[in-house]
Amino acid sequence: MSPRVLIVEDEPDIVELVSYNLRQAGMEVDSAGDGESALERVAVQRPDLIILDVMLPGVDGLEFCRLLRQRPDVRDIPIMMLTARAEEVDRIVGLELGVDDYVTKPFSPRELVLRVKAILRRVDGQARTAAGNTPRLSAGPIVIDLQSHDAYVDGAALTLTATEFNLLQTLMERRGRVQSREELLNVVWGYQYAGYGRTVDTHVRRLREKLGDAHEMVETVRGVGYRLRRDKT
Ligand code: CA
Repeated sequence: MSPRVLIVEDEPDIVELVSYNLRQAGMEVDSAGDGESALERVAVQRPDLIILDVMLPGVDGLEFCRLLRQRPDVRDIPIMMLTARAEEVDRIVGLELGVDDYVTKPFSPRELVLRVKAILRRVDGQARTAAGNTPRLSAGPIVIDLQSHDAYVDGAALTLTATEFNLLQTLMERRGRVQSREELLNVVWGYQYAGYGRTVDTHVRRLREKLGDAHEMVETVRGVGYRLRRDKT
């Protein structure tokens, strides 16, 4: 089945450009010109991924994100953000809305398609892992369920985004081994891209916050990357 992508953008030229390129890549594409109608659309026909512009009339991209992440039925849909300026990226990341990836306008349609595919592969990979016969991983107080994508610390459930879950899963699967930012980008995000190391740092920071008392399980190895501690059982 073709992946279904919802584009939320009020600029027709961009909708057309992105739609064309995604369809060429074998995806089904739907679009909405503002946040309100996009929220309605998402409820009716759940997309596999949302491409979301920051600047929208009415409910803007950031507010849309916040509203989506509050709804249990659709909160885990991956979001690729379109931003007009590189400086906006800092703001978006700072707001910790659980955006999976972002591109700055003007963007190369080819790169956008590659990034969208990378996110979809990641989600698909999680689904396939879930179908296998290793449904749970544990490390010290942390337990993750690969089938339901639930994560727990000392039995208390955490609310993780798809990217945070995948990051935690990767660190757990490679427990005790240092992972460079580049490796994590490659495995978790599905691409290597100069300058995106801070994407990793931001997600690690957010993951640590959510891990609460178990945050020290994720160690920073200065100048190298991150590692999940092995000394706790
Ligand atoms: Ca716009």
